[in-house]
Amino acid sequence: MDSVSGHRHELSKIRNIGIIAHIDAGKTTVTERFLYYSGKTHRIGDIDDGTTIMDYLDEERRRGITIVAAAASFQWNSARHHCLVHLIDTPGHIDFTAEVERSLRVADGAVVIFSGVEGVEAQSEKVWRQSDHYHVPKLAFVNKMDRLGASFQRVLADIKAKFSGVKVAAFQLPIGQEADLKGIIDLISMKALFFEGDDGSRIRLADLESEYQEEALLAREELMSTVAELSDEVAEFYLSEQEVPLPLLMKELRRLVIGNKLCPVFTGSAKKNIGIQPLLDAVLDYLPSPEDCPVCHGLNPKDGSPLEISAHDPVFCGLVFKVVASGSADLLYLRSYSGHLSLSDSIFNPRTKEKLRIKRILRLYAKNVEPMDSVGPGDIVGLIGPQNVGTGDTLCAVNRPVLLERIDFPEPVISMAVEPKSSKDKDRLDACLDLLCREDPTLSLSIHENTGQRLLSGMGELHLEINSNRIKSEFNIEVRCGAPQVAFRETLCSDCTVTGIFDKVLGDNSYYAEVDIRLEPVPRLEKGLEVNLAVKSRQGMPNAWFESALETLSGGLRTGGNWGYPLFYIRAAVTGIRGVPDKTTEAAISGAVLDALQKAISTGTLLLEPLMSLEIIAPENVIGEITGYLQSRRAVIHGIENLPGIKKLSCEVPLAEMFGFSKALPKLSGGRAAFSMEPCGYQEISQADLERLSAR
Ligand code: GDP
Repeated sequence: MDSVSGHRHELSKIRNIGIIAHIDAGKTTVTERFLYYSGKTHRIGDIDDGTTIMDYLDEERRRGITIVAAAASFQWNSARHHCLVHLIDTPGHIDFTAEVERSLRVADGAVVIFSGVEGVEAQSEKVWRQSDHYHVPKLAFVNKMDRLGASFQRVLADIKAKFSGVKVAAFQLPIGQEADLKGIIDLISMKALFFEGDDGSRIRLADLESEYQEEALLAREELMSTVAELSDEVAEFYLSEQEVPLPLLMKELRRLVIGNKLCPVFTGSAKKNIGIQPLLDAVLDYLPSPEDCPVCHGLNPKDGSPLEISAHDPVFCGLVFKVVASGSADLLYLRSYSGHLSLSDSIFNPRTKEKLRIKRILRLYAKNVEPMDSVGPGDIVGLIGPQNVGTGDTLCAVNRPVLLERIDFPEPVISMAVEPKSSKDKDRLDACLDLLCREDPTLSLSIHENTGQRLLSGMGELHLEINSNRIKSEFNIEVRCGAPQVAFRETLCSDCTVTGIFDKVLGDNSYYAEVDIRLEPVPRLEKGLEVNLAVKSRQGMPNAWFESALETLSGGLRTGGNWGYPLFYIRAAVTGIRGVPDKTTEAAISGAVLDALQKAISTGTLLLEPLMSLEIIAPENVIGEITGYLQSRRAVIHGIENLPGIKKLSCEVPLAEMFGFSKALPKLSGGRAAFSMEPCGYQEISQADLERLSAR
């Protein structure tokens, strides 16, 4: 196939890559440089002046952080490669975990960017582990080697220590560091690379100067011994002290990286245009193409039987991993897994059981788009036309329905009332909130039972703030927002086993059922709620009775306890069902379960509040101030770690105490601290704390 960007590419010449990093490590800058050197942008955009291409939402520009996992495609033509690369951007901010999850779900490989000064930070560690969950092979890039305090060896050691599940090996070394950073040494070719011209686009290859030879030889030796440990073919040469033939070495390195056995480490400075083109070549050399990826698993929606989809399967299916909703036509980001989809085809959404038509297929660059006639396997494109499609939906051929594995999203922990300032905007606001929730699966809307207010729920204060700003700036609707409220849960005070009875005469018929349930509060239960069937004998009772009992029990627990909040940290079981022929129906079973649940709840429930796991990086002289602030807010400090020149504080703290923290921290630390925060569970809140919080 040709290399014109709007057309289809051979599978082996496609890369779907996530770029993941801690906020500020340089992800946006690296992405910008990728796009620049590939010729898709004409000048180097810089995050500092708000002109970057990837951050295309206004909100992102203003805050300088990457919120939406936008995908950008570009053609990379170097001396060795002609390939189509789809970059799936991911945010570094923890309030947007869902964005990271969905990017990793559709990425075949990842580039993990570390700062050469800060090293492995909390979020990069977390995202690395998330990517392990999806078995995504990775390359590491140690960026910012030009900055004061940068040390390649220290960060390399840090990566090795923190990610012991994979062998980590340097494939490059910096030539000089901090202000003296001049170029890089490629340990495969043992050549020096210098990036010349205003924009670093002219690469000069040179022999190693003598002062770097010893260090480079040692590093290459370490690399080869690591590879020899993992590859018998390389070991054969290595152990007999022969040079490993380059094609064999490259083949083995690629196999090991794709197999998640080896993580190569590259280095440079995105800002100073050092090391970017070799990193792109490495993406093509070592990270998998769609055809190297294992089959993906799905279900036949008709009967739940498993289906395996490979990139060579001729029938179309793909996963929608992002929705950019709009009043007129949503833009769907689709990762195709198999087959071809043409503009004239109809497709099927098994979730809604709707047959859909495609109006446009688009190649998505960060800012511009190009129309395409069809999309092949392994590709990432934008679709316009299908309605009612949400993030995580599968789109497939009408004649072969399949449900691909969905993306798991965490539950919201915070909510905020949102009302239109003018009642004439009510319908527009409802449409806008519906649209925001369609885009973002961690955002949800509910109506308050007593007040009728619209409640928008999300993952953190910043998450809600960004969305309320979007309502104003993008949709032009003036809204009044209530103070954010934490999303409470309830749990039972103690274990209980109860029997619920349904015994009613309705019209001419009488109904009867008895159900026993056992409920056990389990603090920090991983799933939050577990509902099982634990009856000893089914004695010929119909399956529908058991299904009805389990479904009602799950639904009833979520509906709420004594305060009306969903029950949580409960292991529940249906332990017995007794019925009478002709009188026991599914509805009677359901009624008996609700009666049992009511009895269980009346034995007493505790109120639970969301807890956050918080990490703060700050200089030593302000850490005391920060600790004092946190301790007055019920934080439990787990430890303060010494990092080179800086401290890392880890704690757990109730979310309700953390409102306004992102504004308070710069004041406490003179702007020199950074934090990351994510939900980590729920804990009991005392009456006194509850009263204190509601009095605020
Ligand atoms: P992101 O949050 O990971 O997307 O990081 P950005 O790309 O926005 O970079 C954060 C800051 O670091 C910006 O001010 C960049 O200009 C700066 N930066 C990025 N890469 C480098 C680098 O290689 N060297 C130096 N000195 N600064 C860099």
